[in-house]
Amino acid sequence: MKMTISELQESALSTAISTGRFDAFEQFESHLAHLHCEVAEVGQAYRARRLDGWKAQDGKPEGVAVELADVVILAASIAGFYGLDLSAAISEKMEYNKGRICEEMRG
Ligand SMILES: [Mg+2]
Repeated sequence: MKMTISELQESALSTAISTGRFDAFEQFESHLAHLHCEVAEVGQAYRARRLDGWKAQDGKPEGVAVELADVVILAASIAGFYGLDLSAAISEKMEYNKGRICEEMRG
C-alpha cells in the first residue's frame, strides 16, 4: 500500500480515533509520552532479535521495522490531531538538512 504523507497522517489519525487511542481530552504531553514509549519499543525489539521481524503467538507483527512503523504512525497521528502539516514540515526539514553538516561527524 503506497500513500502520501498526508494520506498517512489522515489514515493514522482516523484509526487512532476510531480505536480509542486518541480522545478529545488527551493532552499533548501524554501524546509525547506515548511516542517516547514507542521509540523505546524499537530498542526492546532490537535487543530481543536484532533486525529480524517475527509474529507473536496472537499473530501480532513484531520487530524493529514494525516498532519504527509505530513511531511513524503515532507521529503522523499526533500531527493530524493538532492540524499540523507533517508533509510540509518533512520537506522543509529535509531541505534544511541537506546544507547542514553534523558537527559530531567531523571528528
Ligand atoms: Mg510499538
